[in-house]
Amino acid sequence: MGFDPWDVADEMGRILRRKWGAADSRETIAGKVREHWQRLASETWPRKCEGIRQAFAKKGCDTVPALDRIEGGGQGNPTRYRLKWVSVQQENGASHQDHEVRDAAPEDDRRADPAPASIAQVEYICEDVEDASWLARAFAAGFRLFGWRRRVLQVLFIGGLLIVALSIMLVALTMVGKRSLADSAYAAIGAGVFAYGFWSTLGHLLMLHSWRIALAPWWMQSLDDDRLIEWRCPPRFADKSIKAVRYTATCPLCGGRVIARSGGLRHAWALMGRCEEAPAAHVFTFDHVLREGRLRQ
Ligand SMILES: [Zn+2]
Repeated sequence: MGFDPWDVADEMGRILRRKWGAADSRETIAGKVREHWQRLASETWPRKCEGIRQAFAKKGCDTVPALDRIEGGGQGNPTRYRLKWVSVQQENGASHQDHEVRDAAPEDDRRADPAPASIAQVEYICEDVEDASWLARAFAAGFRLFGWRRRVLQVLFIGGLLIVALSIMLVALTMVGKRSLADSAYAAIGAGVFAYGFWSTLGHLLMLHSWRIALAPWWMQSLDDDRLIEWRCPPRFADKSIKAVRYTATCPLCGGRVIARSGGLRHAWALMGRCEEAPAAHVFTFDHVLREGRLRQ
């Protein structure tokens, strides 16, 4: 059962279309595979498993894949790597850092009673954020709110608010003092810039507290502007954290990819799911808790 390191190396070569570790000795290859496996298990998989679990649940599977390794020992008995199937309940029971506490029961109910697939409905899948900048990486992995991390956020907010307050005071002072229109205008513009800078950098995090989910600020965004930040706390999640995520779905109208993003001018305070193929026409509501959406006329 499972694949030995040299099978893995061969397959890697096939996928990458270049030899992977071909020049190395068998021991070096085994070491390399072990190293990559550890990184996969500790970094990549924890970020991916939620999305994978949701994708399998959506297809009606009771089981989800999990990483597994059978430790070898001695000559001729190499360590073997594989994916194994575990039941959804088992997977939920596993104590994972930011696993959803919600169990699979509602999904089971839905499966048992197969309603006619509605053309006007989408189901979102939560994906992790890839290639985040160094600043955003802490949030991509889930920024847990306790200890110094909580302090840092507080200091940032208070500092930002102070700067905005000071610049507004400065405007007031110049207006009272010199009464020169140009000076007041400059000061007002300056204050506006500070306020805008504060809002675009940290304002989303403020909104997050009341809305639980918000568009990620510019410094966390990719080119697509499709990253969201989610406020996660008990009882749905094990601990309090802020996590950068993306929500995607398949468009029931055209098969394109629906991505949850800013609602734009028409739905200014809401996040909406927009189809990449027809962003103006195939618009869906977005519910990050139920991970559902309906077609918006
Ligand atoms: Zn579409």
